[in-house]
Amino acid sequence: MVELGCAIASDLESPRTGGCGCGRVRFEARALLWASYCHCRRCQIRTGAPASVQARVEPGSVQVVAGEDLLRAWAPEDGLEKVFCGECGSALFGRRRGGAIVRVRLGAFDGDPGIAPVAHQYVAYAAPWAKIPDDGLPRYPEQPPADGPPGAAGR
Ligand SMILES: [Zn+2]
Ligand SMILES: [Zn+2]
Repeated sequence: MVELGCAIASDLESPRTGGCGCGRVRFEARALLWASYCHCRRCQIRTGAPASVQARVEPGSVQVVAGEDLLRAWAPEDGLEKVFCGECGSALFGRRRGGAIVRVRLGAFDGDPGIAPVAHQYVAYAAPWAKIPDDGLPRYPEQPPADGPPGAAGR
C-alpha cells in the first residue's frame, strides 16, 4: 500500500473507473491528486489537440483491470511514457519508464473523476493557433510545482 498524502481529493472507498474507446482496456484509480492542462508539444502531437488534461495520481494507485496486453507506449528519450490502447488509440496514462502509472488522462474516466484542472502548464509551447482560455487558472511556462499551485487539491 502506498503512503497517502493529505492532498488526495478522491474517495478511496470507491475507485474511479475508466477505459479506452473500444472498451478493451479498463482501469481503476484510487488516489487522484490534482489535474492540469498540458500545452507541451508532445501532448499536442499525441492528441492532435492544443492541450491535454491529466490527473496526477499516487504511484501504484491505478490498476489496469482489463486489456493490459493491449497497452502500447510512446517513450520519448526523456519524460514519461505516453500509454495508449494499441487497438483504438485512446490516450490513457503517463507512466514512468517501465514502472508505475503517474498520470491519467482525464477524458478516459467514465464520468466525473471528482477533480478538475487547476493550472495550465508548459504554456511557453502553447499552440499558436489556439487561445488559452481566460479561465483564471494559474499559468506556468514549464512545469508547475510538484504539489500543484497553492490549494491545488480538488477544485
Ligand atoms: Zn481501446
Ligand atoms: Zn504535455
